[in-house]
Amino acid sequence: MEKIKIVIAGPRGRMGSEAVKLVEETEHFELAGAVDYKHDGKRLNELAGFTSEAKVYGELKDCLFETNPDVLIDLTTPEIGRKHTITALEYGVRPVVGTTGFSAEDLEMIEEMAKRQQIGAIIAPNFAIGAILMMKFSQMAAKYLSDVEIIEQHHDQKLDAPSGTGIKTAEMIHAVRGEKRQGHPDEKETMEGARGASYHGIRIHSVRLPGLIAHQEVLFGGDGQTLKIRHDSYNRASFMSGVKLSVEAVMNLNDLVYGLENIIE
Ligand code: NAP
Repeated sequence: MEKIKIVIAGPRGRMGSEAVKLVEETEHFELAGAVDYKHDGKRLNELAGFTSEAKVYGELKDCLFETNPDVLIDLTTPEIGRKHTITALEYGVRPVVGTTGFSAEDLEMIEEMAKRQQIGAIIAPNFAIGAILMMKFSQMAAKYLSDVEIIEQHHDQKLDAPSGTGIKTAEMIHAVRGEKRQGHPDEKETMEGARGASYHGIRIHSVRLPGLIAHQEVLFGGDGQTLKIRHDSYNRASFMSGVKLSVEAVMNLNDLVYGLENIIE
């Protein structure tokens, strides 16, 4: 099997460093380069914690131009991730994006671009297989129990709220249950934000605390009963089987797939 040539943006990050490990440990993956704006021109093994000799580039464009990879794995920040995704598509490189915080407009624009260029792209707000199942099971449950609230919990260094997974879960539930006003019609917030964000009437509550990684509970209520569907990621390794799957899958796509649930059955 020919190796898939991969570039990783954000290699020093919590997710990026796990992705470097994954690529190095996977026989049919090859780390062609890394993108890190603080270490242009170095080798990865000059940075603490790495053994790879892959070259580090300060700018994605330079990296893509020199290494000509198949896939970009982006695990950076919302603003940079968006720029990187567009650049990768412009260069004919398939982006696999774990970075969260993309707006609906961003996704629409990226989708159009991928379609126009006939290049595969995957944007996955959550790479953990268990989290994908949590979202799918929640979508199933929403057909029968249409009153639902989402509580997502993350570490306190997370930049975006609600989480990409929280939004994606709400979108999947909305697709089967539609618009609904939950709670008392005269309900009033006496303190702003008390009832969380609202996505077509589905409430999303974001908890940020040190010690947490990525957790989500979807609560359904019906007459005399509740149902809780919960997923916990206890470390970043929990995301890597999904990253591997995405890199393999993106090689056979020619448009954008948003969400891993669309490539696992
Ligand atoms: P992190 O530890 O803060 O890592 C982000 C890394 O990106 C940092 O090392 C940062 O460097 C670097 N960076 C910033 N600008 C850059 C640029 N221009 N070029 C290259 N690198 C750049 O965050 P994380 O926890 O790994 O998360 C990364 C992203 O993945 C976030 O958006 C997060 O929400 C998302 N995430 C997704 C999943 C999933 O399953 N899809 C799971 C967990 C997290 P400095 O810190 O030096 O600026």
